[in-house]
Formats: sequence, C-alpha cells, structure tokens
Amino acid sequence: MSVRCSHCFLPVEADGDQAAAHDAPYAVEAYGQCRGSGQATVSGHAVPPVVWGVEPGRTFVELGVLPSPLPEVTREGWTVSITGARFTHAAWCMWCRRAVETFREGGTIRIGFDRRGRSFEEYRAGPLPKFDGVPCPNAGCENRRVGSGMWSRSGSPALPVADVQNVQGREWERLRRRLGVWSVDMSPADVARLAAAAR
Ligand SMILES: [Zn+2]
Ligand SMILES: [Zn+2]
Repeated sequence: MSVRCSHCFLPVEADGDQAAAHDAPYAVEAYGQCRGSGQATVSGHAVPPVVWGVEPGRTFVELGVLPSPLPEVTREGWTVSITGARFTHAAWCMWCRRAVETFREGGTIRIGFDRRGRSFEEYRAGPLPKFDGVPCPNAGCENRRVGSGMWSRSGSPALPVADVQNVQGREWERLRRRLGVWSVDMSPADVARLAAAAR
C-alpha cells in the first residue's frame, strides 16, 4: 500500500489521514502549494486486482486500482518520454458478456514536437496480462472464470490511468514553459529560434 495525494497522486507525508502541505509538482512557480494539501489522502494496492468490474459512480481509486507506480520521465530535445506507465484496458467476460477492466503495466507515452514543430502524443501500452481462471467480478456471474483470448478483446484502445494522465499534463506544461511555446504547434519563428539554440 502506498499513501498518495488525492490531487497530484504523488507519494505524500500524511498527518493522520490528511496530506501534509506540499508544493504543486513541477510547476510550483505557477501553482504554489498543491491543492491536495490538507485533504484526505488516497491509498491503494501497488498491484490492482487482475480484472475488475466497471461500477458506475465508483472511481478507480475506490475500486482499489490506483495509485499506479510512478512513471519515469526523460526529455530529449523537444520530446518527453514517460515510461513505466500503467494503462487500463476494457475486455469482455465470455459468460455474462459484460465489460471487465484489466490493466497493462510498462507502457510508454511520448509527447512533444516533431522536427517541423507539430505537436504529437504517442501511446504504447504494455502487454495484456494473462487472466485465465480469475473469477468474473460482475454480480450474478462471479463463479464463472474469466479467461483471456481473442474473444476478450474489446477493440477499444488501452488508456493511461488518471495519475499517468496527470504526469502527462504536467510534462506538457513543463515542456512548453522550457521551450516558450504556448500554441498547439510551433510557429515558423519558434522552430527557427529553437533550432538555432540547439546548435
Ligand atoms: Zn499533491
Ligand atoms: Zn461474467
């Protein structure tokens, strides 16, 4: 179990069940203290259940899925790589035909600007875990065993979990601040200025 801030999802010192005062990660000069300071912390298993049902009105934190491991962040030129990211992926139970969610560890996200200054985001989820023989989490079906196979693929893409999306958002802001680019794509002047600076 790890204790995290409910706002930035980073590990935090706790006083009882309240997060100690801490700075907003990365863009402290813009945001000052994190809004999760003094708020109730969240905690969860480092490893989530293999599959879990989708329950309307309950967050992944409440379902015991978050927090995820902290991803690694590296920057090279105009590109930021976020590695070790957890994604979630919808699948189907072959018995009740209802959705179950599973997770994929070890994904990579690349964000930044290409050589022509156009912004991009690339998601690459880690491998789908094997979940043969796990009881279905859906009510009325829980004794049936969910297995992995072609039928279990939903066709929808795996998406990064909320705390990874937070990291992604902050890294976009940090990259834009460093480069001084606030438009979606760089202007020709931005490309010329940054290309000259890199030489
Ligand atoms: Zn925080
Ligand atoms: Zn089922």
